[in-house]
Amino acid sequence: MNQFATTGLKKSDLAQFAPTKKTNYKILYGLPTEVKFCTRCVISNQRPNSTVEFKNKQIKKETIIFDKNGVCSACLYAEIKDNEIDWHKREKELIKLCNFYRSKKGNYDCIVPGSGGKDSAFAAHILKYKFKMNPLTVTWAPHVYTDVGFGNFQSWIQSGFDNVLFSPNGKLHRLLTKLAFQNLLHPFQPFIVGQRHIAPKSSVLYNIPLVFYGENPAEYGNNIKENYIPTMNPKFYEETPDLKKVILGGVSAKELIKKYNLTENELLPYIPADKKLVKKVGTTVHYLGYYLKWDPQEAFYYASENTGFKPNTERTEGSYSKYSSIDDRIDPFHYYTTLIKFGIGRATYDASQEVRNKKITREEGVGLVKRFDGEFPAKYFKQILEYMDLTEEDFWTLINKGRSSHLWKFENDEWSLRHGVWMQ
Ligand SMILES: [Zn+2]
Repeated sequence: MNQFATTGLKKSDLAQFAPTKKTNYKILYGLPTEVKFCTRCVISNQRPNSTVEFKNKQIKKETIIFDKNGVCSACLYAEIKDNEIDWHKREKELIKLCNFYRSKKGNYDCIVPGSGGKDSAFAAHILKYKFKMNPLTVTWAPHVYTDVGFGNFQSWIQSGFDNVLFSPNGKLHRLLTKLAFQNLLHPFQPFIVGQRHIAPKSSVLYNIPLVFYGENPAEYGNNIKENYIPTMNPKFYEETPDLKKVILGGVSAKELIKKYNLTENELLPYIPADKKLVKKVGTTVHYLGYYLKWDPQEAFYYASENTGFKPNTERTEGSYSKYSSIDDRIDPFHYYTTLIKFGIGRATYDASQEVRNKKITREEGVGLVKRFDGEFPAKYFKQILEYMDLTEEDFWTLINKGRSSHLWKFENDEWSLRHGVWMQ
């Protein structure tokens, strides 16, 4: 038994998690009470949609929508991608867009943010070598690089790109990561904020209006209609400069400055682009996945062939995959928190996407989820706790407090999920 199995919980709290409990659960994050699984992929209805992370303060989450046949919106859109969208026509739209912005003198004419992982490697390379653009690539550094991630980042640059690597102030980034873990059980949040802002802000800084992100996050389950819009909603990256509006790690920027003796300037990298400057430069953020049919495995093949991308030698903890999100040692830790909060681990995300893209069958996906989803991220666990300056006891206290009792039960000194796609 894990000596910290019930750390942070009182005896009376544990009644919530009794295997016999059937109603009046303690439900966090506003999740749906009844747990359902998509009948086509392996995602559950507990999956939250994307939020505006710099305003994220433990608000009630919207979750993926299922239709009357129990099919999730991501699967419905995958079907539309296969059968309804005229990709030839979409590529022509991309050519038109590139023609409008392409620099005749060879100056930078678009910004491509990324880490040099398979998706950004694919995006930058195809824009440069097929669509004859001159991208400037920009990178928000991972918390703690993995060797394979840093190698891929270098190979990407070596394959023909200028890159600006932004590494946030380590002392501050560690603090924000810790607060995000403590207050939201979302240690990845400050990274997402930085990564989301770096490209629009680089657009303003270097006066390069056109920005390309990869696929639209809506492909994975936000409102399906968002997929029909080629551009990112500006609410995700711009704001009038007002520190009161920015919340990081669940704490307002104003409060952070006061409590931790920070300066406004130190928080600048996390503050969204100034609305006025965005307008002046004419920044426009497009999803390349709107124009080119996005398929993560195909992006992997493309990047292997063209930018020297290498998969990991071993599978990612919590999953079976070897080539997605492999550059940051905090990644498996992050997905462990999604397992705790939503009952959805890394293998569920990976397998759902691969079922939709017809790389594996649903049955195979179910088996992979059963086998890997609950795996503990042991490899870098101690290092990540040190990074956040937390003890193992702190960790389990936060984890146990982050469990909803409609998802988790405690039986024979062990935690397990009440519902799993393999139990259906
Ligand atoms: Zn589905």
